Amino acid sequence: MSDVLFTNCRVFDGGGEAPFTGDVLVQGNRIVRVVKTGYGQRTPPVAGARVIDGAGAFLMPGMVEAHTHFSWNDQPSLDAIQRMPPEEHILWCAQVAKRYLDMGWTSCVGAATAKPRLDVVIRNAINDGTIVGPRYLAASQEITVPGGLGDTTAPHLPQPEFAFGAVVSGPHEMRRCVRMFAKYGVDTLKINLSGESITGMPSDMSQFTSEEIAVCVQEAKSWGKRVAAHARSCWSVKECIRQGIEVIYHASFTDEEALDMLEARKFEHFVAPGLAWLINTVHNASQWGLTKDVVAKMDYPRELEAAVESMKAMRRRGIRILPGGDYGFAWTPHGTNAKDLEYFVKYIGMSPMEALLSATAWGGPMMKMGKQLGYVREGCLADLLLVDGDPLEDITVLQDRERILAVMKDGEFHRAPPVRAARGATRWAA
Ligand SMILES: [Zn+2]
Repeated sequence: MSDVLFTNCRVFDGGGEAPFTGDVLVQGNRIVRVVKTGYGQRTPPVAGARVIDGAGAFLMPGMVEAHTHFSWNDQPSLDAIQRMPPEEHILWCAQVAKRYLDMGWTSCVGAATAKPRLDVVIRNAINDGTIVGPRYLAASQEITVPGGLGDTTAPHLPQPEFAFGAVVSGPHEMRRCVRMFAKYGVDTLKINLSGESITGMPSDMSQFTSEEIAVCVQEAKSWGKRVAAHARSCWSVKECIRQGIEVIYHASFTDEEALDMLEARKFEHFVAPGLAWLINTVHNASQWGLTKDVVAKMDYPRELEAAVESMKAMRRRGIRILPGGDYGFAWTPHGTNAKDLEYFVKYIGMSPMEALLSATAWGGPMMKMGKQLGYVREGCLADLLLVDGDPLEDITVLQDRERILAVMKDGEFHRAPPVRAARGATRWAA
């Protein structure tokens, strides 16, 4: 791994300040020097370092996806995801992992896997260098109840292999299930606390008892694992706070009490709403049978409205809202994840700066790595993107692979910049 000196970049350091013109030196897997430079000035050359002339391109921290499902296979239903044979499925996950890195997501938080060990195997293969992918936290399957979101068995085919999730009933089965996933080596236990209208159980229904949830949390914590919840209903959001479930996915339906509870503990929780899935299910999925009438019957337009109001309220209260969520359906294919940032701006009123911070500064703690990730600062891990354009002017540039000139993870280029192009016309029109 050679040292890399980025010069003449617009540096967005993840701290919320306006970007500055500067140089950044990477040695090993760390950022060791960040220097502000005036126009035309350079830092002295560093012996042996590869120099990348940013030509005014935007240098920012790698992004963190807070709700990732590598094993969702860009298909239109849970059944179609789950029925992929395991051999093809693991190869699919490996390809998808690379796609995230290609698109600038240098870290991803697994939010459930379609078969028991896919996430763990992929995480391990990334970590030992067998495959290419982002930093990754591996999840369990979705733990659910008979008839709940993730129980895709049929009455005459009750075998667990036909289930998308891990189906449990009662505290005893819950405890056994958590222990099994702990044995497999997951980082996160994923529990489905609410329904999901597309599967037949409405999003504002909640199926687990508090007793079952408590067993899940207690058992997960005793193994040192994190719990993340699919929680669309208001009761399920409150249950996450009451029971200390750190990661709350969706949180569509809230009331004042839920918002007050969350605000009181805002640095103990992360919220990843996964708005892209709701927005595209409501507006862009008719070719897969989800016509206007069908989604109206499922009540998704009402849920989208509620979710937008909930997120606006959370934003006002300073609750940590992160991008990511349920990409990997036919109408939300993997790799388009930066749309979340656009939706944060368009739907919930974040500034592009806030949207960018949600994908960077909040990402370190979401990855359980504190302030080592998500910043372009001395001492931080060198996960960096060089972008042609200014996401603070136009947040959608992060959706375009061609505009992401370089991706560095842990001090190594996943994609090195096209040097000649970077030396060409300055993209930054300051
Ligand atoms: Zn999900």
